[in-house]
Amino acid sequence: MSTIFTKIINREIPANIIYEDSDVVAFLDADPATPGHTLVVPKQEFKDIFEVTPEVLNKVMAVVQKIAHAMKDTLGVTGVNIVNNSGEVALQTVFHLHIHVIPRYDRNEYGYKRPPKLDITNEETIIISKKLQKALS
Ligand code: AMP
Repeated sequence: MSTIFTKIINREIPANIIYEDSDVVAFLDADPATPGHTLVVPKQEFKDIFEVTPEVLNKVMAVVQKIAHAMKDTLGVTGVNIVNNSGEVALQTVFHLHIHVIPRYDRNEYGYKRPPKLDITNEETIIISKKLQKALS
């Protein structure tokens, strides 16, 4: 398998690469939500959050933090959104794990909004909480 992001990593297709080390690459998103929207990607191909190893994920997240600091220091942003879409149901479109780092310049700018408030009962929340607690114990 060779994803579009592997092609970027191998310089087979162009991208605005802003950071690279032996395990991780970061480049600007071709269809940015805000100016500077960056994708942080492990060089090794993992489909999503379910497949990536904790070791590689740690390396990716360390770079995510580096990028966030660089955005704060140079772009004048005061906040970032860190997003990962895993699975088609979560609107993942490129099946090579990536973390979006989206600089936020102003909370009302660029139409990036929280989803509407969820209609969920306390009982439903408790059932979900118990299932997850059990799986994690
Ligand atoms: P996702 O929906 O989380 O899988 O996000 C995939 C992201 O990859 C989208 O935001 C796209 O705009 C971005 N993308 C797709 N192809 C390229 C490319 N060739 N260079 C840079 N970003 C890309």
